[in-house]
Amino acid sequence: MVIPVIDKELCISCGNCVDICPDVFNWDVDDKAEVIDPNGCGTKCPDCQEAADSCPTNAITIKESGGAEASEAAGQ
Ligand code: SF4
Repeated sequence: MVIPVIDKELCISCGNCVDICPDVFNWDVDDKAEVIDPNGCGTKCPDCQEAADSCPTNAITIKESGGAEASEAAGQ
């Protein structure tokens, strides 16, 4: 299984990912995109690749879940 990870340093708050996949992405308190449900990935837009491709700054990376970075993104 894969999950999306956002580099908030790169996010310019364009809203593409939130529009495409609102079950996975939403806004944080700083109006940057954040992953609200990494496990929502694969239910409506498989692998969140469409959202990642839509990001103008390549802030979204698709990672294998279970890795160190994936666990960090999931808050584990
Ligand atoms: S598509 Fe990229 S730049 Fe736009 S809100 Fe999402 S993470 Fe930020």
